[in-house]
Amino acid sequence: MTIPNKETEFADLHNHLYGSIRAELLWEMGRTNPSPRWEIFLHPYETLYGKRIDSSSFFETYRDPEAFRKLYLFNHKGPFSEFQAKFNLIIALSKFDPEEIRFIAERITADQFSEGVTYGEYRIMYAPNESDVNVTAKTVAACEGFARAESELSGRARSRLVVSLHRDGGFYREYEFLKGLMEKDSLVRKYLVGLDFCYIEEGFPPKEKKEFFETVGKDNVAQRSSALTVLYHVGESFRDKGLASACRWVLESAEWGAHRLGHAIALGLDPEAYRGETIREDGSERKDTLEFLLERWEEISRFGEIPAKERISAELDSIRHKSAIEIPMTETSLSEIRTLQNYCMDRISKTSSVIESCPSSNEYIGMVRDLSHHPLTRFAQNELKLTISTDDPGIFGTDIRAEYEKAKNLGLSEDLLEKIRKDSFRYTSEILSGREIPDSLTDQK
Ligand SMILES: [Zn+2]
Repeated sequence: MTIPNKETEFADLHNHLYGSIRAELLWEMGRTNPSPRWEIFLHPYETLYGKRIDSSSFFETYRDPEAFRKLYLFNHKGPFSEFQAKFNLIIALSKFDPEEIRFIAERITADQFSEGVTYGEYRIMYAPNESDVNVTAKTVAACEGFARAESELSGRARSRLVVSLHRDGGFYREYEFLKGLMEKDSLVRKYLVGLDFCYIEEGFPPKEKKEFFETVGKDNVAQRSSALTVLYHVGESFRDKGLASACRWVLESAEWGAHRLGHAIALGLDPEAYRGETIREDGSERKDTLEFLLERWEEISRFGEIPAKERISAELDSIRHKSAIEIPMTETSLSEIRTLQNYCMDRISKTSSVIESCPSSNEYIGMVRDLSHHPLTRFAQNELKLTISTDDPGIFGTDIRAEYEKAKNLGLSEDLLEKIRKDSFRYTSEILSGREIPDSLTDQK
């Protein structure tokens, strides 16, 4: 492939700091950790992979780097629980204390730089009950690690921090706390550039975050120097609902102000994937989708056939008291979903939202059952703003070049990939939040 040669520089915008830890490094971290938290890893691993592992002889058994790599890497298609069982190995073997976080931030920047990444945004997530003192120490430590790496690499690579908030918890409080920390600490003010929502998506509709998105947007305008992006994993996993509702979630997130959309698979996944199946969905979710269709009927129907308004109203009446409904995926419904997706993609292309597509992640844990259904080609056809990222390169055993290669194999042209690579430097949190003006980046690389 001609694009990713040795000199090419990449921006990797969707990346989780601890998921970027390479197998060899994790093994070393575990071996030198006096008290690994084995209980987090052993039992779920045995349940899901049917293999009992003895912690007392662990570092002997997995002394061979290949054997450890095999245990650690998640590079097959499987449910999120199987991915989590492997991610638990990271949690078990790491200490996640400030000293280690500082080291990891520095090391990951160097590792990624050696693979061509000259700008990276790394997400970190704290335990929901983490004390303010610890959140402060860990956030500062990550920023210090990035600063150290930058100075060691003489500024040739930049890393920035994104904190993942808890969808179900006190994200307002977490946000206020981080803003306060930015005021007090100049290093945090410089390196902390965004807020993320990740982990289980089902059960957390974006409408619950609408006000929060607005608050962040207003604060960004009021104080540009500490503006933060909202990065939102959405439409990645939608086991509790149909493609139409999941697609609506993606559009709502963009319209309400999410700066970048994590994965957004539902937006462009080929509905053919569900032919002949019956989808179950909560009555309240279906109601939201039917009301959405009614409200925007004229606009959406410009993109193709959707049910007549009378039919939608009749369905609304019929489901009013139902807690769950079933939707058969017939020829007609598949075509209607495709129309809705085309409308949503068109709408999103007119917002400033950027889609973060992570091919390996989508292939292994995303809901892409068959690569021929992958949304990336439709994203490209609809001229959406795109970036390609690694997500958890350590655990997926991938790197940025491999992800561009996968995107090429999915059908993206080299010219387009080159455009995406360059554009990605304009989709950084600092630019999207309004903190930085992209002028200096014209003619980037
Ligand atoms: Zn992610």
